[in-house]
Amino acid sequence: MKLVLDEEEIWIIECIKKAHVDCGFHIRDVIKKAKAEYGLCRSTVYEIVSYLEFHGLVKTNKSGNRELDPDVLYFVMCPACGKEIQENESVKENGRIICEDCYLEEHQKIKFADPMAVRSMKLFRKQHGFKGTEGLTELQKEIYNFILEDGGATPEKLSKLFGLTLQETMNQLAILRHCELVKERKLGDEMYIVSFDS
Ligand SMILES: [Zn+2]
Repeated sequence: MKLVLDEEEIWIIECIKKAHVDCGFHIRDVIKKAKAEYGLCRSTVYEIVSYLEFHGLVKTNKSGNRELDPDVLYFVMCPACGKEIQENESVKENGRIICEDCYLEEHQKIKFADPMAVRSMKLFRKQHGFKGTEGLTELQKEIYNFILEDGGATPEKLSKLFGLTLQETMNQLAILRHCELVKERKLGDEMYIVSFDS
């Protein structure tokens, strides 16, 4: 059976690792750490440790103390995409454990309205004599043409249409924005991407 742990359970494992001394760990030390670092109460700690024991992740060693069994595999659910990942495939960021894919995607964010990026993009395009959609990738051209033809589109709609994640779409749109081909327009509660001159 695949053991998938939630965030609190992972926190407890972290605390157990920190509370571990040569002969094992004492639950009192885990409670102290869990309270100080994550604000978890004693009964939650007991509950989770007994759950980990049930699944063999925590075992009693020869000296009669509890310790983590490093050989028992467990998975974590990525809070961003819901994928089940092994601990070594995860990245910790601001206390959150997310999968490598989501980590990369979050760090490849391109700022949409960015005056510096617009300036350097303008200079680059001028140097290369690029006008309109010249110098863009096929995908960027297709997205831009769709926005022109439809008079505007939400990033969500474009994501579905072009089979991209929302972040990928936002990155492509940011590049179009830096070329001053598109801009944002708020219609009611929704954000639309429209042509820059409209
Ligand atoms: Zn993920």
